Amino acid sequence: MSFDNVLGQGQAKHILNQALSSSRLSHAYLFYGPESIGKKLLAVEFAKTLNCTSSQSGEACGACDSCRKIEDRIHPDFFFLEPTKATPTAREAILKIDEIRALQKKLGFLPYEGKFKVAVIDQVEKMNPQACNAFLKTLEEPPSSTVLILITSNIYQLLPTLISRCQGIKFNPLPPDAIREILRTQGEEALDPTEVELRVGRSKGQVSRALSDEVTQTSSYRQEMLSLIDQVSFKRMDLLFQWSKAMAKGSEPLSQILEELLGILRDLTFVKSGGSPDHLFNGDLLAELEPVARKKSLLNLLKMTEAVNQTLHALSGNANAQLALETMLLDFCEAA
Ligand SMILES: [Zn+2]
Repeated sequence: MSFDNVLGQGQAKHILNQALSSSRLSHAYLFYGPESIGKKLLAVEFAKTLNCTSSQSGEACGACDSCRKIEDRIHPDFFFLEPTKATPTAREAILKIDEIRALQKKLGFLPYEGKFKVAVIDQVEKMNPQACNAFLKTLEEPPSSTVLILITSNIYQLLPTLISRCQGIKFNPLPPDAIREILRTQGEEALDPTEVELRVGRSKGQVSRALSDEVTQTSSYRQEMLSLIDQVSFKRMDLLFQWSKAMAKGSEPLSQILEELLGILRDLTFVKSGGSPDHLFNGDLLAELEPVARKKSLLNLLKMTEAVNQTLHALSGNANAQLALETMLLDFCEAA
């Protein structure tokens, strides 16, 4: 079955299979959930299934002309839209109204060679307001023989009017076994078992995180962060200044370092509340996490988490890095 090409997401596959077998398709689906967990992949497999010409028991064959054209994105009834930058130097990619209008025009015709026209719109939250308004009309009066699949990893950025006109299908982070399988089959090099488990634990169930080297780059800072959380206090201000200076001058992006710090604080909170070690981001550090968790109260840990979040926010607004980190650690001292 072609849905087997997508790991995990049993619930989403079940809903789509039921719709296919009962021929009760929605005109618009909204696939939502964290990044890099298979939403786009399943959307393409679904499009293949809808138009496969030599389908066995309702499943896409993956080999016919139609399946191959959809895979290569050259099928005349398959449309794939994603945000683009207006100019190479533009800060953000958006889905522009021209592209939405062009899509609407194409959807106005009958399918050219397939049974359905299928349009996949990735990162639908990147539609600008004009594009969104224009697109709402298509959702209100969907063209015949058309299935729209909207994809987002930021559902909270979507207009309620858009969400309410689609059938929502939730995607979940991938289970550890699926991440292990992907690391085994898609990784550039064979990884030793310790590295695999480190990546699985820190992937948050997202493929791009598991495959990215960034996941392990900043991991070398973890021990240091843990002892910082453990020791920083008004009596050890030297640590505060040393660390802030080193991080502000370092080559790693600060947001990544602070995400790492959030992961450790989250794990400490988790250990403190008696959560199972299987669910830690930094499970390999359990022996080091436990003594620190014993020394801190839940309130300490929550205040520190809040301070890190505030710092991330401040840095996104171009605050002075060293000053922002020092302020954060002063809050740590107060919480300690
Ligand atoms: Zn086929």
